[in-house]
Amino acid sequence: IDVKEKKPQPPKTKEEYQRKMDEEYDIEQFKYVIIGGGTAAYHAIDKILENDKEATILLISKEYDVPYQRPPLTKSLWATKDDNVVNTLDFSDWSGKKQNLLYEPESIYGNDVLQFIRTKKVVDLHIDEKLVLLNDGKLIRYDKCLIATGGEPRQLKFTSTNDKKISTYRTVDDFRKLYEFVKDGDKHVTVLGGGFLGSELTCSINANFQDKNIKIDQVFPEPGVLSTLFPEYLSKYATDEIVKSGVKVHSGTLIKDVVDNSENGRLTVTLNNGESFETDHVVVAAGIIPNTNVVKSTSLEIDTVNGGYVVNPELQARTDLYVAGDVASYYDFSLGVRRRVEHHDHARATGEMAGSNMSTKNTPAPYTYQPFFWSDLTPGVGFEAVGNTNSKLKTFSVWEKPSSDDSKQSYTKGNIYYLNDNNVVVGVLCYGNYGKMDTARDIILKRKVVQDLNQLQHAIDFDEH
Ligand code: FAD
Ligand code: NAD
Repeated sequence: IDVKEKKPQPPKTKEEYQRKMDEEYDIEQFKYVIIGGGTAAYHAIDKILENDKEATILLISKEYDVPYQRPPLTKSLWATKDDNVVNTLDFSDWSGKKQNLLYEPESIYGNDVLQFIRTKKVVDLHIDEKLVLLNDGKLIRYDKCLIATGGEPRQLKFTSTNDKKISTYRTVDDFRKLYEFVKDGDKHVTVLGGGFLGSELTCSINANFQDKNIKIDQVFPEPGVLSTLFPEYLSKYATDEIVKSGVKVHSGTLIKDVVDNSENGRLTVTLNNGESFETDHVVVAAGIIPNTNVVKSTSLEIDTVNGGYVVNPELQARTDLYVAGDVASYYDFSLGVRRRVEHHDHARATGEMAGSNMSTKNTPAPYTYQPFFWSDLTPGVGFEAVGNTNSKLKTFSVWEKPSSDDSKQSYTKGNIYYLNDNNVVVGVLCYGNYGKMDTARDIILKRKVVQDLNQLQHAIDFDEH
């Protein structure tokens, strides 16, 4: 026997050693590992596939469903008048075009190029070793990794812990459950929150299920809906419109407790003003907490002011580790501040940029885009906006003159400019006036000091629809 030949040879390189260890411990390796199955993840994958014909991609999501868009979950999906929507996820968009909630059908996931691990959570990242740890103990090695984990709905504690009757709302599964609950009618729903989610959901359920005797109470601490965004008068107007549409609104109010009513199987909601009422379901829409719990064994900088992982202009938190979407704290070039944005267009654009930077052969590019966002509540309360639209800023609004047959003062079309202490426009909200975001971006980008506010009168025109 030639003993020499039998003796295992030590690996010649670090890479060879790593390959051997990976084989021994059954560690799979992918060129790209994407953590999170949302909008940022989807658009990153799209870019990688475009740039790198030799890509091997692993997408890991703790949800069951393949990537989908969230905006229709509070809007179009409720307006289909088809109870089978919970299965098909088909809907018509604003222009009447048929769409599906999923970005791509299931069939595109699960091949040599793109694999999908569903209902598994990433619980740690060993950044120096380039290893991802899943909650089932599996380790996966990456060359480049994207964290696109979004945010988790804020939970509130009540005496009742019945999670079938008290729920948060973010996923398609939450939609399915809530839709199944309201579809047969004759129920009372309480929505906690006067932000985007609480207000959109209230309006959609109310508009589409009022005729089935679904009654809604909306409770929030602010004086009016979307009051961190709208100037006071507009928030009041939007709230009044919601009240007119049939919702019972409790503004400036907190839910003190929710208790199971053992006599009738319902819930009793008590408010901090002493009032109480019975309800069948409470939806908590109290904001999100960015999902920054994926890296434990190495420290990644977390933005202590805005939350989220701090990234450089190329959207990297470390070499070969990128962050995109709701969970990224980034430097906004046109506003000159660090911030975190929780909206769809930003998730799309940062996803694309991260995917592109991960797979390009060229020098990675900085994220300089100014994302927009939009919302639709009742008919007549809808807008598109861009930049810093915090209602604490000074605002200057230009409203289109109501037509002569409309004698009542109502807000139909207007442009609201948000100005900083130096009188520079840092945000623009176009109310009922669509397709103006590029003009608005240009105004923000110019960083011009507005000497006379009347200069803004004609800065953005009104569309003709
Ligand atoms: P997400 O879409 O939240 O995706 C994150 C994914 O990561 C999820 O699948 C999550 O389960 C997964 N994940 C998290 N942690 C882990 C982990 N440890 N391991 C594995 N997977 C993990 N914005 C607008 O501009 N306009 C709108 O009209 C609008 N409507 C909305 C309606 C609803 C109901 C909601 C909830 C949001 C809406 N938004 C809207 C906001 C927009 O959808 C979000 O900003 C966007 O989804 C953020 O994308 P993301 O990819 O960063 O995160
Ligand atoms: P939000 O931050 O817009 O509003 C949170 C609401 O919950 C506020 O009314 C706030 O006062 C209330 N709240 C917070 N903590 C509370 C507490 N302890 N007790 C009582 N009330 C409390 O967040 P949201 O409306 O929950 O939306 C969730 C996420 O979904 C956000 O990231 C939002 O941007 C996103 N979203 C966006 C859109 C859109 O852009 N059109 C639509 C839906 C959802």
